[in-house]
Amino acid sequence: MGAMPPSSAEPDLASWVAALLGGQRRALAKAITLTESTRPDDEVRAQQLLAQLPEARGSIRLGLTGVPGVGKSTFIEALGMFLAELGHKVAVLAVDPSSARTGGSIMGDKTRMPRLTVHPNAFIRPSPSGGTLGGVARRTRETIALCEAAGYDVLLIETVGVGQSETHVAAMTDLFVLLTLPNAGDELQGIKRGIMELADICVVNKADTDPKAAIRAQTELRTALTLLTPHDAPWRPLALRASALTGEGIAELWAAVQDYVAQLDLGAKRRSQTALWFDELLREAAWRAFREGLDMRELARLRAEVDGGRITAVQGVAALMK
Ligand code: GDP
Repeated sequence: MGAMPPSSAEPDLASWVAALLGGQRRALAKAITLTESTRPDDEVRAQQLLAQLPEARGSIRLGLTGVPGVGKSTFIEALGMFLAELGHKVAVLAVDPSSARTGGSIMGDKTRMPRLTVHPNAFIRPSPSGGTLGGVARRTRETIALCEAAGYDVLLIETVGVGQSETHVAAMTDLFVLLTLPNAGDELQGIKRGIMELADICVVNKADTDPKAAIRAQTELRTALTLLTPHDAPWRPLALRASALTGEGIAELWAAVQDYVAQLDLGAKRRSQTALWFDELLREAAWRAFREGLDMRELARLRAEVDGGRITAVQGVAALMK
């Protein structure tokens, strides 16, 4: 092995990994930026870096969702501050496919969480811009791995609560929290049944605005969750009340999260998530390798044929594989 001259990038990568494992923010931020890059040489380097990270243990990955205005950023700031003050290291990430298309970002504005942004125990990363939902979700998974390697033990992953990003986030988190409002029906809140089914904990936020309505909403949610949950489910989803503004209910939510972690075999859940991640990475790697030998003009021609209805999609792919 000593005969092999080291590649010029290696010593740099090693010290970068060391800085990252030591919890240095700059190293972490740079590593996340690298994994978000779509340049082929950056992709290779990102994979080299990620391959050096040990598997994180003992962290909690929490997905949070709810319609715009429900109070997600206020809630995440309140929960994040509560945890940071307890001595946890908290990382806040966002998955926002709409920002991927528009270039804006739900997390772009750091003033949304002014206190948490400056807390030494917190790290806030805006949603990556550019790319497809799949791409944004993949990079979020890698960002989770990087944050955990840097010592962050609570990951709060926010989604906008209106699209498909929830399914992606549920597939990379330990538990999923849905925020709702005291004074609106399900339709008004835009809650899709599918999102309710993903929720391990529902929280009626803004309980301070109308405490009675909040109790009613909590009872309704509890009934809905009972109906949605199979009898043999390992966890009965909870309905809680909170106020992100006053901090009421934040400690109760955290206690529920800890109950969840104590009761469920997170190891098994994570292993199956990791297996899915492996499948995704493999598909991507296979596609990259396949693409290199591909006649892109022929691909474009066949795609136009399919688009024009002259051949079927199946025929187009069959022609390409020949
Ligand atoms: P997001 O769009 O889901 O991120 O919602 P925001 O966190 O930006 O909150 C929307 C508005 O609701 C802001 O004006 C917040 O101050 C307010 N808000 C959030 N949580 C609460 C709460 O628990 N009680 C009250 N009264 N207002 C809240």
